Amino acid sequence: MFENIIDKKLVFAGTKKKFVKSPQYIVLHHSGASAEQTVEQIHKFHLGKGWLGIGYNALVDKNGIVYWGRGIDYVGAHCKGYNEISVGICAIGNMDENIMPDAQEKSIVKLIKEIKEYYPTIRKIVGHKELSATDCPGANYPLSEIIDLVSKQDGQSEEQEEILMILNEGDKGASVSAMQSRLIALGYDCGYIDGIFGIKTKSALVAFQGANNISATGVLDNRTNIVLEGAISEVKLPQIKKGNSGQYVSILQRLLNRRKYKLSEDGIFGKLTEAAVLEFQKKSNIAVDGIVGKNTWHAILS
Ligand SMILES: [Zn+2]
Repeated sequence: MFENIIDKKLVFAGTKKKFVKSPQYIVLHHSGASAEQTVEQIHKFHLGKGWLGIGYNALVDKNGIVYWGRGIDYVGAHCKGYNEISVGICAIGNMDENIMPDAQEKSIVKLIKEIKEYYPTIRKIVGHKELSATDCPGANYPLSEIIDLVSKQDGQSEEQEEILMILNEGDKGASVSAMQSRLIALGYDCGYIDGIFGIKTKSALVAFQGANNISATGVLDNRTNIVLEGAISEVKLPQIKKGNSGQYVSILQRLLNRRKYKLSEDGIFGKLTEAAVLEFQKKSNIAVDGIVGKNTWHAILS
């Protein structure tokens, strides 16, 4: 979220005020001046009005580049009476005289979506003139088109979420066991593979998310699940059997032990490990040969 947004490190004439309540509106503006105007120039202009600095929360230029103005967490100065409860986005340029370039429109749509994700309290997207006596954001501003595009993309992401699994602390069942097995195979300790999403499983998941640059929520969401599956498929678990030794034997022993077998996790595939594998294969209805290949790994990880 909010990747590729440029922070110009603007210096404000005082301490910016944080939102007290989560905003409810997104207010769309145009700068009403040249499309070549820079964020710094607008900042200077607003400072000149005796304000803290640039009044918009974010700005989008004609090439679709997005900049922070006052920022996402701070009360702006862009729509009198609504600043405390709204996020203001400025399209740099004059939408009375010009048409909005596609790149700018696309970036505004994406930004609105991200703001709505960040503030689920947002319930309305409006043009400035709907709230104040002004012509802003300009006659050519594609307001309804932008609102349509935002809601269309919203619908698509909701569908995806329905299809893909989301597991939370407190959940139970086979999908929790599968997640636990995968985490253990990747070296994250989540206790027993018991199908119960408890505190230990949650902290293992948080550690996995942290190591993979996913926000560490401790929830198995779509994104985390995809990354977890990718990590497992990259491990390329080798075929192992009696007589082998090494880290994959240790992983196997650990995975079996989490299923209540009692092997020493020494990385040596001996008689006892083989007996446990044979029993596990029998229980899982796969070929009972004591050889841990694709099918056995698959069974143990699912
Ligand atoms: Zn405006």
